[in-house]
Amino acid sequence: METAAPAAVIVAIDGPSGTGKSSTSKAVAAQLGLSYLDTGAQYRAITWWMVNNGIDLTDPSAVAAVAGKAEIISGTDPSAPTITVDGTDVAGPIRTSEVTSKVSAVSAVPEVRARITELQRSIAASAAVDGVGIVVEGRDIGTTVLPDADLKVFLTASPEARAARRSGELKGADVKATQEALIKRDAADSSRKTSPLAKAGDAVEVDTTDLTLQQVIECVVTLVEEKRTSE
Ligand code: C5P
Repeated sequence: METAAPAAVIVAIDGPSGTGKSSTSKAVAAQLGLSYLDTGAQYRAITWWMVNNGIDLTDPSAVAAVAGKAEIISGTDPSAPTITVDGTDVAGPIRTSEVTSKVSAVSAVPEVRARITELQRSIAASAAVDGVGIVVEGRDIGTTVLPDADLKVFLTASPEARAARRSGELKGADVKATQEALIKRDAADSSRKTSPLAKAGDAVEVDTTDLTLQQVIECVVTLVEEKRTSE
C-alpha cells in the first residue's frame, strides 16, 4: 500500500532581525520540500521602488498614495529565492544600508501593509492548493498574515548575539553601530500601530542565543514533523 503524501503545511516564522530567521526558514523549507517566502524582501522591494521614484518617505500619505504602484514578484524556491520589481531583479539593491534604514518607515504605513499582506496571503494560498506547503518568514505572519498557520515559531536572541551575526553577514561592519541600527529598527517595527512585530499567543518561542544554526534548523524541522504526524 502506498503511503499518502503529507498534506500541505503552512509554517510562520517570525522574530526580530539577526535571530537567524532567513537561514533557518530557507533550510527548513529545502529539507522538507516546502516553498519559502521572505516577506522582509517584499517590504524592502517596495521601499527600493519608493526611493528610486523620489517618494518623500517622511510623508505617510505620499507613501500610501503609491503603495499599489510597483509590481513585486517573489520566487519561492528555497534554494534560489528571487525578488523582482516591475521585472527588475532587486535581490542586491534591497540589501543596501539606505533601504535598510528606510524600510521601517515604509512598512509602518497601513496601505503598504494591506497591499503586501494580500500578496503574501495569495502566495501562501497557492502553495497550499498545490499541496506543497510553505515556510513564510517575517514579523507579523503568525499574528496577522496567516493566523491559521499550522505551526508558528517565534525566534529570539540576545541583542549582542543578533548584532554579532548581522555584522558577520555584512562583512567588516562595526558591531556596535550594527547593534544600534538593529535596536532602532526593531523598536520601530515593534511599536508601529498596524501589525507590529509580535509573538502570536500560540507560537513556539525558540531562543537561539546559544544555539548553532544547525541546532535551530533541527529544532524547527522537528516541530514541523510533530505537527504533520499529529494531524
Ligand atoms: O526581515 P528583514 O530584516 O529583511 O525585514 C526588513 C523590514 O521589513 C523589517 O525591518 C520591517 O520593517 C519590515 N517587515 C515587516 N513585516 C514583515 C517582514 C518585514 O514590517 N512581515
